[in-house]
Amino acid sequence: MTQTPLLQVRGLSAGVGDSAILQGIDLTVRSGEVHAVMGPNGSGKSTLARVLAGDPTYTVTAGEAHLDGRDLLALLPEDRARGGLFLSFQHPVAIPGVRLDHFLRASFNALRKSRSEDEMDVLRFDRLLTGKVGDVEMEPGLAKRAVNEGFSGGERKRNELLQMAVLEPRLAVLDEPDSGLDVDALRSVAGVLNRMRGPDNALVLVTHYQRILSHVVPDAVHVLIDGRIVRSGGSELALEVEATGYDPFQAAVASPP
Ligand code: ADP
Ligand code: MG
Repeated sequence: MTQTPLLQVRGLSAGVGDSAILQGIDLTVRSGEVHAVMGPNGSGKSTLARVLAGDPTYTVTAGEAHLDGRDLLALLPEDRARGGLFLSFQHPVAIPGVRLDHFLRASFNALRKSRSEDEMDVLRFDRLLTGKVGDVEMEPGLAKRAVNEGFSGGERKRNELLQMAVLEPRLAVLDEPDSGLDVDALRSVAGVLNRMRGPDNALVLVTHYQRILSHVVPDAVHVLIDGRIVRSGGSELALEVEATGYDPFQAAVASPP
């Protein structure tokens, strides 16, 4: 296929202050694809997600990233979101005093406005939201509560999926959507993600377990160690990680052939 990749990352290096975290990441994601980024704790998975989303904590020191052919790194975080990028957080924070449904409508309408579309009124949005809450298999009462306040870990993860379902991003980067979920919740989340897959969007799934990838089968798997992608392959690579752990991959970094 010759179509422009949805996401093209080349030689991306980034860090905080003097410490380098990402050290030359290459990643190409096309429309319709699901990519998994796997790696041990501290390898830089969340940093990669946050740098793509434009978290100002991190300084990009080299490389480039394009979303739909646009220079992602030149855009403010909100313009990245308007451009179709969505990041779900590994540890979603609570926003006391802000009701989830109000928060979602504000985000949704901000995106519509940026596309010169009419804002959606409360009644119509509530109907849409009810459908989305059903789609992501969320307990309906949660949408009337303050964002993530008193939500269990699983409910917070579910809320990230709800945001994604409402905003319909072109590219969603999900940071450990599987962490802390029991078996049933994991299967449900995987089902939701599979139903969201489509020819016009793509998913980057950050995880350190293979489990979710046996339900959401990725087109490509990348193993990230010490800020570098040390191996890329098909879904079988996730099984290899599951079987051997990350040590063999780490050893390969320490003593290159
Ligand atoms: P992962 O998500 O793979 O567990 P992270 O991207 O969270 O890894 O972290 C990668 C490395 O970068 C870790 O050593 C972490 O301590 C460091 N790091 C990440 N964010 C910051 C920060 N804001 N300040 C300092 N160090 C950071
Ligand atoms: Mg992380």
